[in-house]
Amino acid sequence: MSKDQMGNQLESCIVCEEKKPEGIHLYTSFICHECEAEMVRTKTDEPRYSYFIDKLKRVKTPPLYS
Ligand SMILES: [Zn+2]
Repeated sequence: MSKDQMGNQLESCIVCEEKKPEGIHLYTSFICHECEAEMVRTKTDEPRYSYFIDKLKRVKTPPLYS
């Protein structure tokens, strides 16, 4: 297995901003497995939750001015 090939497949997670080989795609963005799992565990009244929401806001399509 080639290291170069592995490197090319790494994507930057929008939450932790690290390059991870595995994760999910949300629209055009990428969230690594670790962050996805942490988001699932985080309750809505935890400060950490708003951190995730803030990150996720960047993922969504630009606001519509109608
Ligand atoms: Zn991550």
